[in-house]
Amino acid sequence: MNSRFELTGPIDQLSSYPIWAQDMVTDCNKHKQAVVDHEIFALMREARLDATSTSNFMRGVWPVIERFPGYMAQSLLKTRFGRSAGDNLARRWLVRNIRVEQNHAEYWLDWAEGAGVSRDEVLHGWVSPDVTVLASWCEEVSREGTLAAGIAATNYAVEGATGDWSQLVYESQVYADTFTDEARARSLKWLKLHAAYDDTHPWEALEIVCTLVGVAPPVHEVKHISECITRSYRSMVMTLDRCFDKQGVFKGVEVAA
Ligand code: FE
Repeated sequence: MNSRFELTGPIDQLSSYPIWAQDMVTDCNKHKQAVVDHEIFALMREARLDATSTSNFMRGVWPVIERFPGYMAQSLLKTRFGRSAGDNLARRWLVRNIRVEQNHAEYWLDWAEGAGVSRDEVLHGWVSPDVTVLASWCEEVSREGTLAAGIAATNYAVEGATGDWSQLVYESQVYADTFTDEARARSLKWLKLHAAYDDTHPWEALEIVCTLVGVAPPVHEVKHISECITRSYRSMVMTLDRCFDKQGVFKGVEVAA
């Protein structure tokens, strides 16, 4: 049996992927949903997120945004041109998309600024180490994990859950109305680019993972990739919890009553 995977159906339909991948995505879904359903996004959508949590969020997630091209560079280092179809696909895609993620860092700072958190605060503000749990995990899996695990944990899982919550926030007119007319488009650009309906990044990552491991990978390999994806979702929730901590997790920041 030929165990190689080649995408034949639409890239953004789960049915286009091998059965093991379909099962894995379904199994991990409740953890992904916990990210998307996080209270911080519900409040953001309703334009009710307090200034402290907004600042915590912009500064707390920034290390992941800033390092994202770096995670992909770590993955790129693991590829070898000509070794396999998966290596070739990963290499081409990573080279192209590292540049795209560079721009996303700029757009994040624009969003923060529009939301009242200055560039300086994001770039130089103190961040509690427990908020960086997601950044640390992404760093670790991109450096130490297999190529498939690293891409699954970051480009598939983190970008995928982000696509869903970005769409929810981006669709909120109430939230859009919190920005001035002049600042609105610029402030919402990061969200617009990541909103799931426009962004094929996570699907492309899933295609690469499936091309790397084929249609019939060993059970332990699937289990490992699945655990890495789940750990990304859980780390996202932990980071969001800490940003949203009403007791204040950032030294020197006054907590709104
Ligand atoms: Fe991005």
